Amino acid sequence: MTKSSLQTPIAYLKGVGPNRAELFNKELNVFTFQDLLNIFPNRYIDKSNYHKIKDLSPASAEVQIIGKITGVRFVKQKRGKRLVADFEDDTGVMELVWFRAHKWMLENLKTNVPYVVFGRLTYFNKTYSMAHPELELLSKHQQKAQIALQPVYPSTEKLSKKGVSNTLMIKLIFQLLKEHHSAFTENLPNSILEDLKLMSRPAAMKAIHFPQNLEQLHKAQFRFKFEEFFFIQLQLLRQKLIHQRKIKGYTFNNVGEVFNQFYKNGLEFELTNAQKRVLKEIRKDLGSNAQMNRLLQGDVGSGKTIVGFMSMLIAIDNNFQACLMAPTEILAQQHFEGISKLCEQLPVNVELLTGSTKTKARKAIHNSLEDGTLHILIGTHALIEDKVKFKNLGLAIIDEQHRFGVAQRAKLWKKNNLPPHVLVMTATPIPRTLAMSLYGDLDISIIDELPPGRKPIKTVHRYDKNRLKVFKFLKDEIKKGRQAYVVYPLIEESQNFDYKDLMDGYESISREFPSPNYQISIVHGKMKPEDKAYEMQRFAEGKTQILVATTVIEVGVNVPNASVMLIESAERFGLSQLHQLRGRVGRGAEQSFCILMTGHKLSNDAKTRLETMCRSNDGFELAEVDLKLRGPGDLMGTQQSGILNLKIADLVKDNQILKLARSYANQIIQQDPNFNAAEHQVMIETYQQLRKGKTIWNYIS
Ligand code: ADP
Ligand code: MG
Repeated sequence: MTKSSLQTPIAYLKGVGPNRAELFNKELNVFTFQDLLNIFPNRYIDKSNYHKIKDLSPASAEVQIIGKITGVRFVKQKRGKRLVADFEDDTGVMELVWFRAHKWMLENLKTNVPYVVFGRLTYFNKTYSMAHPELELLSKHQQKAQIALQPVYPSTEKLSKKGVSNTLMIKLIFQLLKEHHSAFTENLPNSILEDLKLMSRPAAMKAIHFPQNLEQLHKAQFRFKFEEFFFIQLQLLRQKLIHQRKIKGYTFNNVGEVFNQFYKNGLEFELTNAQKRVLKEIRKDLGSNAQMNRLLQGDVGSGKTIVGFMSMLIAIDNNFQACLMAPTEILAQQHFEGISKLCEQLPVNVELLTGSTKTKARKAIHNSLEDGTLHILIGTHALIEDKVKFKNLGLAIIDEQHRFGVAQRAKLWKKNNLPPHVLVMTATPIPRTLAMSLYGDLDISIIDELPPGRKPIKTVHRYDKNRLKVFKFLKDEIKKGRQAYVVYPLIEESQNFDYKDLMDGYESISREFPSPNYQISIVHGKMKPEDKAYEMQRFAEGKTQILVATTVIEVGVNVPNASVMLIESAERFGLSQLHQLRGRVGRGAEQSFCILMTGHKLSNDAKTRLETMCRSNDGFELAEVDLKLRGPGDLMGTQQSGILNLKIADLVKDNQILKLARSYANQIIQQDPNFNAAEHQVMIETYQQLRKGKTIWNYIS
């Protein structure tokens, strides 16, 4: 047999074998010795201390106490009885509780003999108790070597069913560490280790599994968190550098006739300073000879569209075509109408291409695209079908990008010999923390100013039982000539259930707001696109006063006369979604309102979300709160992004480490992007492994 290494298949580890190996593959993604060692404990059971009963606090979690059982009794409960032992040390008394295995306990428990108990504390009726504690005679306990901080490894139901217990995991990993300790090598440059006084990699590997004390554990955790962030940032920053150097783009030197004509005669309002600034940033990108890759963030209603449109005019002034891709048909339609209007006085042709464009029209569009007579194409995913060929696409704008996958974006690139400039517009503000890690390779522009004259939307939280008052309020608003949205949640797994909610809601709204005094539109995901468009149109034209809908109206819909957004079961929405919905109102000159309806029972998180909504209109602030509440998993685009499969670091809690890692990575990329320096050789292997694993959002196809 050859000598084993860290790359040896896990089946060859003593105590594993082929069956368990398969289980490890499937359940933990563990294939080699190395993989197993990379499974870090979820938490550690702290048995480094013995607590005194008088020092316990209701906040204590798991504790270890030395004391004696002074008496045992049964206590009746709803079903059956529980066994309670009084347990005391020289400072106080508490209870040990068993709900089952009474017989065994009764026969084996010894009174007035010192025990060590360990378990999770509960505090009720001013008494501490511990259910089903680990229990060991002090005399025995003292004979054994103690692990101060016992690792608890991630497990699954299947693993524990098949006998892969935590104890076995500890045994396997202990053995591996002993046999292969010398195989661990350092992967961070010496200067960083010294600068930050980081624990070496071999020492950290040992300490993360079997720390001798908390201080050592924290040092090991810090080292691995830093390492994790560092290599991700190294990769992102290097990609950005390569991108800037190598990916050539079309150079748009002219800010010419069409742009100026629109700026002088077509623009109906003064751009905000933020819009002007962003437009300048975009112009600078377009004028350089590198391809633009820019994310434009701006709160709902901040006026991103006009900035996007004026960028398209620059492309047209340079004899290029532009396209705008929206996530839904409704949005594409709206953009088409808005942009067509802006183009009325301009020598610019605009067309709309969606899934429901008829064959004949589609053919005409294909032709005019290929011969270059069509300047701007607006549409949905239909834009990236292979049949759609531009003569010379110079700028691609993607609205509300979080609905587009990476693969779809990559397709847009392949339409010409050089990639078009790309501008991604989003109203889902990404907290800076996340933006930094997700879009290390993207430039970011922010519109942080709303057009003048907007009144902040008033947001309130109301309980279902006050529904009649809320309806009265709606009626008053409608009497003033306003319109209202009523939105129901739609969550994929429970579509049928939600559909029923929506229909029940529609019925009760119809009863409360009867025709002919009131007209109601309804829009939901199960409708045909043309029916949806028809209903939306009626609402947009003011023919109906109320639009009952699911979240299909979430993005982009623009009806300035609508002043009330009523959100049903608001507790079921995430913060950013609530904010998106709220952004549908407040688009006109009138005071607008957002009413969050909920039942009485609310989780703490839901309460925080509702309070935050009522307090703040600032999308960035909301996004930060959302990130803290939910973690990054639900934020835009994150499914595709490996950065969020972090193994040990936490984007929110370890924000400071992230910043540190980024600044060190940046230094290296600036000074030695190809890792030629002797000191940087140690990083190469890990860097390449990470690249192969492609766990980072790979923006460049
Ligand atoms: P969003 O950023 O949410 O996409 P839009 O581009 O749809 O916002 O703009 C919202 C509304 O504000 C539109 O009706 C648009 O015409 C208007 N608008 C945009 N910029 C300005 C401005 N500088 N002054 C006044 N109104 C503006
Ligand atoms: Mg928009």
